[in-house]
Amino acid sequence: MKVLEEEPRVEVTQGAWSAAQAARDIVASGGGCVAQEEPFYVCDLRELAARHARWRDLMPRVEPFYAVKCNDDKLLLRTLAALGTGFDCASRGEIDLVTNLGVAPERIIFANPAKMASHIRHAASAGVDTMTFDSEPELLKIKQHMPHAQLVLRIRCDAASAQCPLGIKFGCDPVAEAPRLLKLAAVLGLDVIGVSFHVGSGAEETEVYARAIQYCRALFTLGAALGHARMRLVDIGGGFPGGSGTSIKEVAEVINTALETHFPEPGVRVIAEPGRYFAAAAYTLAVMVHAKREVVSVSAAGGEETHTMYFINDGVYGSFNCVLYDHQQVEPTLLYMVGPCARSARIATTILLANPAVKQQCLHCCVSAWRPSSEKPQPCSIWGPTCDGLDCVLPAASLPPLQVGTWLLFKDMGAYTLPAGSNFNGFPLPRVKTFVDEALWSVLKEQSPFSECQFSVGRAAPPSLPCAAGAVRDPAECRAVFVECALK
Ligand code: PLP
Repeated sequence: MKVLEEEPRVEVTQGAWSAAQAARDIVASGGGCVAQEEPFYVCDLRELAARHARWRDLMPRVEPFYAVKCNDDKLLLRTLAALGTGFDCASRGEIDLVTNLGVAPERIIFANPAKMASHIRHAASAGVDTMTFDSEPELLKIKQHMPHAQLVLRIRCDAASAQCPLGIKFGCDPVAEAPRLLKLAAVLGLDVIGVSFHVGSGAEETEVYARAIQYCRALFTLGAALGHARMRLVDIGGGFPGGSGTSIKEVAEVINTALETHFPEPGVRVIAEPGRYFAAAAYTLAVMVHAKREVVSVSAAGGEETHTMYFINDGVYGSFNCVLYDHQQVEPTLLYMVGPCARSARIATTILLANPAVKQQCLHCCVSAWRPSSEKPQPCSIWGPTCDGLDCVLPAASLPPLQVGTWLLFKDMGAYTLPAGSNFNGFPLPRVKTFVDEALWSVLKEQSPFSECQFSVGRAAPPSLPCAAGAVRDPAECRAVFVECALK
């Protein structure tokens, strides 16, 4: 049984900070690599708020219903609820998770076209009326268990290419199948209120949204002729990019134009089910190299070749399941390195900051006494902590030689990572440390569901770096973090 305890704390920060800085503080507050050995996430709530604002700016007509499956971290859900999004739930468990936060059932769409009967009955008792379908048996099941459901027909319209195609599993053909389903729903007296689609997660084509919206229009017209006079919802699904450095500007232009062309009437409500867009960039994963192995082999030319295997404390059975299931390309950067310090050379191993954004600093003597490694990157591979040979995070990487105790950062790890991770071989999933700045927190805490939480206020100690007596620390390195809320 996977137990991921909710970290019931939001750390409210003062002044400028980055996820890398926060991660460095966490490692340092554990006394460096010795005490702090577990992987962890830094979640930056500012990223969620910025993405929400950008979405509203670029697609004011489209209401986001966050896809809970992408990352069900409760603080993320609470934050999106406080910002005003709706939610796309795929199961009874997800419906409970979201409604237990105090989200009204009208803000939920049950967007799984193949539902268990008991889950349909549960949705009915929770007041979640809106749900998708894409087959005759599903219509008959809904007629039996929830005849008053507000139905949304899921059609198939695939992007030319996508990180995770979904059309292979869900969505009826908009021409060959959809008319028949609309007719059957009318015969059964079921209320079809709209049409939905999902072009594929991590879609690599933008024009596909225009094609899909055009299909929706045609089906609205047909639906009205068949007796579904009150069709009023278009659900444009997910598929939006989420990594840092990506943008939804181009896809928003395509969607806005298609909506203006095909659905100019303001009475038609438009929603979307973004997952990756919100979650990916808000989470940065910090992992430690806890073991390494030099593998020497004979090259084709007859000489010796060395390849280094690095073992880190999270792998494909944990967060990096995204490499297998979500086909993610992950890339490490250095956070902390371990090596001899130029100033206190007598100390064999000293923890060294390796964040290029700040000046290099030895944590032992607390002065800028270390220079980045000038050694050339070497071929290496990165492996997870379990005893399974499948547990390989990166089979072919190139990094400067690393010592055991080095910390690595992986950016953009918020989408399709934690929810599918396991405790296989006894390794816990990383905890999430959540940060927010004072200005955003002052807004969020007034909104439901935060406004219904009880808070206790505390002050986080600055990182307890192992400073030598008398050494002067750069005050910026001792940035205080306020711990301000404990959520019930
Ligand atoms: N909606 C449905 C029905 C999905 O199945 C998914 C992902 O699998 C999503 C939304 C979220 O998609 P994305 O993360 O690409 O935005």
